[in-house]
Amino acid sequence: MGMAEYDFNVSVEYTNGNNSYWIPTPPDEVEDLGHIGIIDIGDDQSEFEKIISLVHEIGHVIFNDKNLFKKHRRIPLFEESLAWHLGYDYALTNGIEINLEEYAERIELALQLYKEIK
Ligand SMILES: [Zn+2]
Repeated sequence: MGMAEYDFNVSVEYTNGNNSYWIPTPPDEVEDLGHIGIIDIGDDQSEFEKIISLVHEIGHVIFNDKNLFKKHRRIPLFEESLAWHLGYDYALTNGIEINLEEYAERIELALQLYKEIK
């Protein structure tokens, strides 16, 4: 948690429930608030789920920075997929090992749910 806050200048906080979110700070408030956004991690999740939630939301933070399409349009499923991918990369680079098979299962589930909600 602390490492992500330091690496990306975000604030990682716990929130009630089992959902996690990435809430970007509006650009004109970054200077005042001193961070580029908040990652809310649902506290009602297993340790494994908290970790992969954090990893996924970090993926959003990384991708948000590099997303060249966002000026033109948002492509939610594309952003979701890349967030899973980039977050995993970040975790691996920092020595956080996540079971790839379990992670892949979570990705599939999340993307499926995502399509159903849309
Ligand atoms: Zn996401």
